[in-house]
Amino acid sequence: RRATSLYHAHPVLIAIATVSTAGGGIFAYKTVYACSPDVNMPKKKVVVLGSGWAATSFLKNLKNPSYEVEVVSPRNYFAFTPLLPSVTCGTVEARSICEPIRNIAKKKHVKIEFREAECYKIDPINRKVYCRANQPADLEGKEEFTVDYDYLVVAMGARPNTFNTPGVEEHCLFLKEIEDAQRIRRAVLDCFEKASLPQLTEEQRKRILQFVVVGGGPTGVEFSAALHDFVNEDLAQLYPSLKDLINITLLEAGDHILNMFDKRITEFAEEKFKRDGINVKLGAMVIKVTEKEIHTKDRATGTMVSMPSGLVVWSTGIGTRPVITEFMKQIGQTSRRALSTDEWLRVEGAANVYALGDCATIQQRKVVEDIEAICRRADKDNKGSLSVKELQNVLKDISERYPQIEIYMKRKQFTSIVDLLKSVQGNEEKEKSTQVNIATFKKALSEVDAQMKNLPATAQVASQQGVYLADCFNRIEKCKENPEGPPRTRGEGRHRFRPFRYKHFGQFAPLGGGTTAAQLPGDLVTYGHSTQWLWYSVYASKQVSWRTRILVISDWTRRFLFGRDSSRI
Ligand code: FAD
Repeated sequence: RRATSLYHAHPVLIAIATVSTAGGGIFAYKTVYACSPDVNMPKKKVVVLGSGWAATSFLKNLKNPSYEVEVVSPRNYFAFTPLLPSVTCGTVEARSICEPIRNIAKKKHVKIEFREAECYKIDPINRKVYCRANQPADLEGKEEFTVDYDYLVVAMGARPNTFNTPGVEEHCLFLKEIEDAQRIRRAVLDCFEKASLPQLTEEQRKRILQFVVVGGGPTGVEFSAALHDFVNEDLAQLYPSLKDLINITLLEAGDHILNMFDKRITEFAEEKFKRDGINVKLGAMVIKVTEKEIHTKDRATGTMVSMPSGLVVWSTGIGTRPVITEFMKQIGQTSRRALSTDEWLRVEGAANVYALGDCATIQQRKVVEDIEAICRRADKDNKGSLSVKELQNVLKDISERYPQIEIYMKRKQFTSIVDLLKSVQGNEEKEKSTQVNIATFKKALSEVDAQMKNLPATAQVASQQGVYLADCFNRIEKCKENPEGPPRTRGEGRHRFRPFRYKHFGQFAPLGGGTTAAQLPGDLVTYGHSTQWLWYSVYASKQVSWRTRILVISDWTRRFLFGRDSSRI
C-alpha cells in the first residue's frame, strides 16, 4: 500500500526514473559474451523466422561472431505492438512504432542477412526452410527459395483466433498488425463520413455509428477506451450532429472483462466504462457476424440476441499459424495449441530447432509435483496444514520457480486463500493461530495447472525468451570446453545452461481519459492519472531505438497540443 501511494504522490519522479533507464529499458538483462572468435572456424548458420518481439530481442542480444544469421520474415520491420491501439485512433502514428529490422540487425561482429519472405514449410530432417517472396511480382517464376540451417529459431508469432465463428473473417477487423491498426483508423473515419451523408435516416446513421468490440481482454479493453477517447475528445467536436448517435459496445463471453487482472482492476475498469457510457455486455458469446448485424447468445440463459453494427473489431485471443500447424504434424505434436518446447526452448521432436514467443509453449510438466514437494518440505510435522508464515514462504518459493503464479493467484480458485491471508495481515495473534489446509491449496493449484504450464502470450515473455536464447548462443563455445556444465539441482540430468525462467514485471491496462490501471509485482495495484504517467514512461523507455522513442514522445506531445488528426488518408 505504501508503494501505491508513492506512485500517486510522485508520478513525475517515477516517470523520470523509468525514462532514465531508456536504452536497456526497465526489463533489461545482462548478456555475458564469453567467446573468442576463431576466424578459421566455419560459421554455423542460424536461421531466424520472424521479425517480431522474440526474433528482435534474440538478434539484438546475439553477439557471438561464430554464427552467420539469416532472418526471414514477411515484414521488414519490428512493430511495437503495445501501442497498436493508439495507432487505431491516431494518438500515435504507425511509422513512429516501427523500426526497420535491417537497422536492428546492423552489427559489427555478427553477419546478419534479411530476406523479406514468408516461410511456408520447415523440413527438420534436411534442415531446410522453404520460403516465398513477399512481393512475387517481377520475379519471373523465382519467387520461391530454400534456406539451409544449422540452427533454426522459430519466432513467427500467432494469428487472430476466430474460433471458426461464421462471418468473422469476412466482416470483422482484427488488431494484430500495423496494417490492421491503419485499417481500423480509416474504417472509423469512414463511418463518421458515411453517417454524415444527407440522404440517410436517423436509424441508418445510428447503425453505422454502432462500434462493437468483441473480446474483453487487454487488447479489446484498451481499444474500446482509445476509441471512446477519439470519439469524445476529437470527433464529437467535428461531427456535432452525430454526437448523440454514437454507441460503443464491448462484448465479453466470460463473467468479467480483464479477467487475467486483479479483481480490483476488473471492477475499476467495469465501473469506469459504465460511467463513460461504454456498453459492456458480459456472458455474450458471438455466434455469427453479418455485414450489418452481430448475433450473440447469452451464456447463462441461452437467449439469442442480434444487434446492428457499423464496425466490428474482433480481439478474442490468438491461434496457431498454418505453417506451424503443419510443422507440428510433421514432428508428432498434433494435440498441442502451439509448438511445444522444453525449458531450454528446444522444440520437442526436432533437433536444433528452437521456438519462442507466441508460437511456442514451454512444457513445464512437473508444476504440480514441484509445488507438492515445496508444500511437503514446508509441512515439517506432516500435519496437513501450514501456518500463515509457512504459507507465505511456500508462495515465495513457488513464485520464484513459477512467476506466472502471481497471475493465477488472482483467479477465483485462490480467492479464499488470498482473502484469508489478507484478513490476518497485521494481526499477530490471528496470524499465529490460523492454519491453511494444504489440500485446499493443492486443489486450487490443480485447477489452474493447465494454465500454469503455459506462459502468457505477451511481448514480455517473447522478449525475455529472445534474450535468454541469445545468451545461450553467445556462451555456447565456452560451454563446449566444459560440456557438462555446472550440475543443476532442478530438472533431470546436467545441462549446459540454466533453464529459461520467466520474470513477471506486471502489466498495464489503459482505460482512457488519461487513466491507466497497473498490476505490479508484489500484489501492488495502482490506477488513476499518475499510473498513466508511469505507462507513458515505461512505454517510452521500452522503445527499440532512440528514433522511435523520440517519434512516440513527439506524437504524444502533438496530441496534447492539437488533438488527433481525423483526415481519412
Ligand atoms: P510477433 O511479435 O507477432 O512477431 C511474429 C513475426 O513473425 C512477425 O515479424 C511476422 O511478420 C513474422 N511471420 C509471420 N508469419 C511468418 C512466416 N510464415 N514466416 C516468417 N515470418 C513470419 N504484450 C505485452 O507484453 N504487453 C502489451 O501491452 C501488449 N499489447 C498488445 C497489444 C496488441 C494490439 C497486440 C496485438 C498484442 C499485444 N501484446 C502485448 C502481445 C505481444 O504483441 C505479443 O505477445 C508479441 O508480439 C509476441 O511476440 P512474437 O515475436 O512471438 O510474435
